[in-house]
Amino acid sequence: MSFEKLGVIKPILSAIKELGYEKPTTIQTRAIPLVLAKSDVFATAQTGTGKTAAFGIPMLQRLRNVTPEARVVRGVIISPTRELSIQIYEDMQSYAKNMSLNIAVFVGGKDLDTQQKILKEGVDIIIATPGRIMEHVEKGLNLSHVEIFVLDEADRMLDMGFMKEIRKIHPLLPKRHQTLLFSATYSDKVRKLSKLILTKPEFVETSKKNSTVDTINQVVYLVDTDKKAALLAYIIGSRNFRQVLVFTRTKASADELVLELKKDGLKCGIIHGDKTQANRLKTLNEFKEGKTKVLIATDIASRGLDIEELPFVINYELPSIPEDYVHRVGRTGRAGRDGMAISLIDIYEKYDIKDVERLIGMKIPQEVVEGFEPDPTIRRRDQEELKLKSEHKKVEVKRAKKSYKKPDAAKKTPSVKKTPSVKKAVTSKKRKTTKRD
Ligand code: AMP
Repeated sequence: MSFEKLGVIKPILSAIKELGYEKPTTIQTRAIPLVLAKSDVFATAQTGTGKTAAFGIPMLQRLRNVTPEARVVRGVIISPTRELSIQIYEDMQSYAKNMSLNIAVFVGGKDLDTQQKILKEGVDIIIATPGRIMEHVEKGLNLSHVEIFVLDEADRMLDMGFMKEIRKIHPLLPKRHQTLLFSATYSDKVRKLSKLILTKPEFVETSKKNSTVDTINQVVYLVDTDKKAALLAYIIGSRNFRQVLVFTRTKASADELVLELKKDGLKCGIIHGDKTQANRLKTLNEFKEGKTKVLIATDIASRGLDIEELPFVINYELPSIPEDYVHRVGRTGRAGRDGMAISLIDIYEKYDIKDVERLIGMKIPQEVVEGFEPDPTIRRRDQEELKLKSEHKKVEVKRAKKSYKKPDAAKKTPSVKKTPSVKKAVTSKKRKTTKRD
């Protein structure tokens, strides 16, 4: 398949050629014709599959005719984070470089009045986070001419609690408009949202539910908590990793890890929710330019990061939500390139990794790095462990009860004859049986 055959127009063809897009990815092949045919689309696509172009290219094509003297907002793309919004904006700008469309990105952390001025000058397509677009709506932004409405990474948006904003924005759109819903994962919440905002949608599913990208090699290294930072430094140093993205579960452990790696002479960038937007962008650019070879990030920051040919992702800690594992490792192996995802797992994460494996439907190989073998005497003794144990026990008891009903299992039960009360119960049962016989 080629972009020409999908009906993409010349100005866009020459722009994407410059970006090195030779042929469309699967999601693009399937979604572009549907969007051009004005259908509502519900697409589940993994991160890194080329989904931005899958909605961006046909959107630009549909909205290409501009009346410069009477510009109104005709396209809206909502995305969950500032970074992702900016990434989409940059992609859209490069696809539209031979067109006369005005595209703007409105995210928090930037001056609202400056964005208002841009709006007044005339904008065709807005890319925004849900909170910021609502602020503009409150200041009079008119969405009644919108022809195409896109919700990108809808699952993430719902996880972040943006349903309220989406419910407010939706009625402001005209009755006849096209909606494109893109989500990396497929959950009940997303399905409910799709029922609310889509009309007779076409479904595009390019991957197994929650599966990770095929080109990513995944491995788990078992290690004790207090040796994680040393192992991380060892992996980066001994394998000469030039560009590696490291994920922590919390802002605090990201901050701690920076200090630890500094001791090993590794200069790291750090991106998390407490950093300003300007700081995050500066850090990201330094990483992209190779000025820092390690970038430490939390999950919130992970969504918008698009770094060309990122070869390694390391989960210093597993995410608290298994779905975030898919998003994290999706930062590597993008658009068919090879990538590697390493997870450093301590004893506290042994159930978390099982949840991840259940979600992605595959077992991730577990290995031990020489010199970093976990201490076999360390056992989890925390409350969570006890809770998990009792939950597992409950399941076992249920199973045991079930098997008790089986005739051959029943025969084995008299072996529990230790306490007198149990003995009595067993004997009376026996007697009953004798009577009945
Ligand atoms: P996305 O899933 O939209 O974040 O895209 C992932 C990466 O793939 C980005 O760096 C895109 O520029 C790149 N990409 C998208 N479509 C293609 C294509 N058809 N050929 C090559 N690279 C692409």
